[in-house]
Amino acid sequence: MLNTEIVTVDKNRPEKDKIKIAAEIIKNSGLVAFPTETVYGLGGNALDEHVARKIYTAKGRPQDNPLIVHIYSLLQLDQLVKEIPSRAAALMDKFWPGPLTIIFYKKDIVPFGTTGGLDTVAIRMPAHPVALELIKESGVPIAAPSANISGRPSPVCARDVAEDLSGGIEMILDGGPASVGVESTVLDLSEEVPMILRPGGVTLEELEDILGRVDLDPGLAPGEKPRSPGQKYRHYAPKASMTVISGSIEHQVKTIRELAEQMVANGSKVGIMATAQTRHRYTKGYIISVGDRTAPLTISSNLFTILRKFDRLKVDSILAESISEEGIGLAVMNRLYKAAGYNVLKV
Ligand code: AMP
Ligand code: MG
Repeated sequence: MLNTEIVTVDKNRPEKDKIKIAAEIIKNSGLVAFPTETVYGLGGNALDEHVARKIYTAKGRPQDNPLIVHIYSLLQLDQLVKEIPSRAAALMDKFWPGPLTIIFYKKDIVPFGTTGGLDTVAIRMPAHPVALELIKESGVPIAAPSANISGRPSPVCARDVAEDLSGGIEMILDGGPASVGVESTVLDLSEEVPMILRPGGVTLEELEDILGRVDLDPGLAPGEKPRSPGQKYRHYAPKASMTVISGSIEHQVKTIRELAEQMVANGSKVGIMATAQTRHRYTKGYIISVGDRTAPLTISSNLFTILRKFDRLKVDSILAESISEEGIGLAVMNRLYKAAGYNVLKV
């Protein structure tokens, strides 16, 4: 068992001495969880096969689910990838640093341990001063999946990380809550039409503005085979059984009210994931608003916190409203469907 140290850092001006200690751990093949704008990452030296194995073990993650490699400067990219397609350059220019991960063909220096055996590597530059300083000071690119136990809701604050990984890693850098709250968009540029393998912080609409047509991996639909290995696993899941209700808002509210009433009458503990617009319409169960429908970033940034809150409340069932799949709503609904194991009730 490791003694996991939690170190608070200034989000905007990370203290040099604290970053140095964390970077030493990375240089010595250890693991440090750190904040990014999407979720907290579990970081280690991306060029060390042995470290990749440590990350998989700490998370309990299947070995064929590749890690995203984080860089702080475009100068690091040449070392890692065979070529930089012109479309990638345009995207990096617009969205890096930020929540967009791009798939490239890897050079030999990137171990297969990091890429889950693939000859491609997923790379992004995070928009968070603590993350950027840590990568820079470490002197190596940092492989970092979300810093949670595989399958659980992703961590959006240091407390979430500690809940899952205390004792399994050397250090957690606490830089406050993540602002986006869902993971990066994973984009594949290898075919003529670019394809989103995982919807995330950069939206489909934003990508279409630059690239023209962009497809969504058909494998994201339930029962299909996704092209991003990670998307095939049950993910983001709370301990309770969960149902997503979809349909007009009026129908959603009516159905959730009826279901909650029945469940409570049967002695079951029910959590309702409502929104600012609808929370007052419910009376039975633990009612929590995930955010404001007119400001979807309030919803994405709260989503995983609410799922973990329902775990702490030990509810038996969660009934979740749906939101529009526009903008970041696409990523929010992807996470909700997966959290519910695609248990969706259309009303
Ligand atoms: P996480 O590490 O939890 O943020 O998840 C990373 C996601 O990126 C997973 O869904 C991975 O399967 C996906 N990914 C990473 N590398 C690749 C790659 N080379 N090709 C396709 N998907 C990838
Ligand atoms: Mg993850």
